[in-house]
This record gives sequence, C-alpha cells and structure tokens, in this order.
Amino acid sequence: MIQLKGKAFSSGFARGIAYVYSDILESNHAAYNISKDQHDAEYDRIDSAKEEVRQQLFDSAKRVGSALNKNVADIFLAQETMLVDPQLVDDLKQTLGQKHVNAEQVIGTVFRRWIRKFRDSPSTMLNERADDIEDLYRRMLRVLVGVEAHKLEKLPENTILVARSLMPSDTVFLTRKSCSGILLEIAAPTAHSTILAREFGVPCVGQVRGLILKVNTGDEILVDGNTGKVFVNPTEVVIETYHTARKKHVRQSAKAIKNRFKSAATTNGQEVTVMANASSSGDIIRAVDSGADGIGLFRTERFFLAAKALPTVPEFRKYLLRCLKPLGDKSVNLRLLDIGGDKIIPYLSLPFELNPFLGRRGVRLLFDFPALLKIQIKAILSVSKKYNVRILIPMVTFAEEVKKIRVMCETISKQMKIPMIQIGAMIETPAAALAVPSLCKYADFLCIGTNDLTQYVMAADRESALVSKYFRDDHSIILGLLESIAVNAGETPVTLCGELAVKRDALSSILKTGICSLSIAPLSTPGIKEAVRRL
Ligand code: PEP
Ligand code: MG
Repeated sequence: MIQLKGKAFSSGFARGIAYVYSDILESNHAAYNISKDQHDAEYDRIDSAKEEVRQQLFDSAKRVGSALNKNVADIFLAQETMLVDPQLVDDLKQTLGQKHVNAEQVIGTVFRRWIRKFRDSPSTMLNERADDIEDLYRRMLRVLVGVEAHKLEKLPENTILVARSLMPSDTVFLTRKSCSGILLEIAAPTAHSTILAREFGVPCVGQVRGLILKVNTGDEILVDGNTGKVFVNPTEVVIETYHTARKKHVRQSAKAIKNRFKSAATTNGQEVTVMANASSSGDIIRAVDSGADGIGLFRTERFFLAAKALPTVPEFRKYLLRCLKPLGDKSVNLRLLDIGGDKIIPYLSLPFELNPFLGRRGVRLLFDFPALLKIQIKAILSVSKKYNVRILIPMVTFAEEVKKIRVMCETISKQMKIPMIQIGAMIETPAAALAVPSLCKYADFLCIGTNDLTQYVMAADRESALVSKYFRDDHSIILGLLESIAVNAGETPVTLCGELAVKRDALSSILKTGICSLSIAPLSTPGIKEAVRRL
C-alpha cells in the first residue's frame, strides 16, 4: 500500500480502480510538408475540424447545462467564442500559407503560440484563459487525428480518474456517473475541473505530489475527499476503516439534507446563521433549495464583466430582480463591483497594473468611476422596495471610504424617495481588520473575506499553488485576527464569508472567535448546518 496526501478539493469518499489519463498533446502526430496547391484542401481540414469542435462545445454546454446549471455550461460557450475569434482564424490561415505543413502542425504552431501569449500575460484572468485555449487545441487535434471518442467517454463503472490536470472538455464526462473520484497532480482549488467536481459531488483530491509516477492504471484506490488522503492498493484494515467512515459520511449527508431548512445551533445552544455566497441566479436557486438563511455575499462581477458597454440602471435593476426572485424575504448583501487591474472591462479602459491585487481594486476603483458606482447604488435602492437588500463595500481600507459611500447612498435615497438601506464593509485588508471600531461608526454590518484577508496578511497570492503553504486561512494568526474583529465590532453583526467558513475542521475554532454567522458555497449549506449541530 502507498499512502499519498494532497489537498481536499471536493468532499466525500470514493473507492475504485485507477485510470491514469494521459494527454493527446503528449503523443506524436503526423508531420509532413504540403505543396502550395494542397493549401485549400488542408485549410478545409482545419475548417471542418473547427466546425466539429464547435458542435461538440454546443453539445457539452447542453449536456452540462441540463445536468447542472447554465453558468457552468457558459464555460463551453465562451470556448466556442474563442474558437471563432477572427484573429485566431487569420493566424491559422497565415501560418498555413507561410509554412506549407499539414493541418496538425499548423494548429500545433498556432495554438502553442496563443497558449504562451496568454500564460505569459501578467493578468490572472488571461492566464486562466490559456487553459481554455489548450483545451481547444486538444479538441481540434483529436478531431484531426481521428480519435473519435474522448478517452474518458467510456470509463468503466467506479473509476478513479488520475491525471496531471483536467481540462473543461475532460470534466464534462463527469456527468456520466462512472467516475467516482478524481485525483490531480496539479490544480488550484479554483480550477474549472475542481469547481465542476464539487458541483457534481465527486470526491476530488488535488496537488498530490508524484501522483502520476506512483499510480498505475488498474491500481485499487481509496480517496478521502474530506482530508486529502489517498491510499493506493490499500490493506484490508484500511478498507475496513474506509467503509466505516464512508457509511458515517453517507448517513450524515442524508441527515443534513433532511434537516437543511431547520436552523442550526450547537449542542450548548449557540445559534449559527448559515448563509450562502452567490454570483448568479443559479447560485441563489441552489442556496434557497439548500436551506441557506440568506445570501451573505452576492458577487456582482459577472454581470459587469459580461456587459459590452457601461450598463444602465434599468439593466442592472432587471438583472437583480431576476436573480433575487427565489429569495422571498430572505436578506441579501449585494456587494458593489469588486474588480481591479487584473480584470478586463472594455468600457472602462483600465491601465495595466504591475500588482493588480495591491492596486486600484474594489471601492478604490469605484471612487474613480462615479457613474459606475451611482448606477449600482440606484439599482440596488430601487430593488430594495421589493427585496431585503443591503449594500456591501469591497476592499475597504479606511473608515472614510465607508462614510463616503454612506453619504452618497443617503443623498441618492433622498433623491429617489426610497428609505435608506443598511451599508456593510468587507474586511479584507489588514488595515480594515485593525480599524474595526472606526469602521463600525459608519458600517451597519461587517463581512470578513478571509480569502483576501489571508492573502494580504500572509503575503501569499490566493491563486498560486506555489505559495499555498503560506496561504493558511485556518492558521492561529488569522483566527486571532478574526477574534479581535469580532470583539472590536461589539454590537455590529459580523459574517465570515471566505472559503475558511466551509472548513469543518476549523468550525469549532471559528465559533470560538465569537463569530456566529457564516456565508458559504450554496451546496455546502446542509453539511455545515449539520456540523454546527454536532459541536
Ligand atoms: C474574500 O476575499 O474572502 C471574499 C469573500 O471575496 P472574493 O473571494 O470575492 O474576493
Ligand atoms: Mg475578496
């Protein structure tokens, strides 16, 4: 037996047979020169491969869209848009014209160039796009070399998929129930593959060092997605322990789902509010279905990033009304737009920043674009007549920023003749965490964003797997800071809305800080409520 350890990316237990997935990009493909008069025929091969891949992407979007939700399906539709990008099409044509080589080599040259370009970009968002381009490259190659089915299409039942990393086109096969667990050598918790694994409820352990060298297809594997432990060819004793743990997990999940609409309190009577984080209408539907006590954080970035021009008040209002419909009278903290130099918003023409996460982010940027800020305040105030909404300010550094937003909201609410609503501050910077008493003069409530707070306190990029050992949101340094925030907030309500709130091992320590309101991923709500009841 070999025991491996990685990061627990998607909870649950799985036992099955390993399938080590190797990539089509790692194999050699036909390479030959073509004459000038073969150009048209060779370009037709590229063009028809492109059409087939587009069809595959539409099919994947449909399949995932009906199994899950539209937002996940959008990943494939965004890839389809990239594939028909006129610059990419031009590049393919020109490379064929210059190099006189077969289609496989042309797409190899072009796609590798595009992947490099996106990977080398200082923008995190563009870096993430590189994976999508690489995925398109794989799909094109598969069609061109005539590999009809994706290797993962026909996995036998109870397969544990073992891979260096997975692309969105790979993960669509998770909709077939044959894959019971996933092990990845390199992947960030925010990678598409790990998000989809969580959405599908498939246990997943990532960042397992030496995985590909240590596991062979056919090995028996046990995956513990709660602790990140992996057993290769386990002994009878380990299998026995696994069965007991799995039975307990299944029992607890069933109980958690049954009790999801009940409130949660610890055994000594401490009531805990469990709300959900959301960034789309689908998330809100899932939050309500999962028994969330409200929306502790609604991220509005998706709406503003998708818009082609500066949205109008009626447009944003319409979007909010559509999203909030399932909520009824439950409260929602609508966060003002939190973007910065790492995200491209064409209608703002933001300058390049060397250090976007330390740059003009969140409320800092909104003060420089007053029209964008006012649109949000007006739309939020207008929906406050119908829904229980509050405004949440991102990336606060100084109490004066909260004061300034409060004054603006009061002025606009008077102009619109709509009663003023509550204003809250995100605690994400060390400065805000250290200035809680002054913030509370102007803020009606606080939401602690431990993702950013940990990043800034530990000086460790939250997106980087290279410094993940420094990004310790459950470290006593962070827990001590949370306690001081809770104490200094006094009567002002505090909610914890970073990923820390979903870590069951940290739950007891979190509640000991005095924080008793959490906001987490919608589908984790029943499990966390049940975990509270067991404390
Ligand atoms: C956070 O920083 O913890 C947070 C909840 O906000 P986001 O993840 O959207 O930055
Ligand atoms: Mg944040």
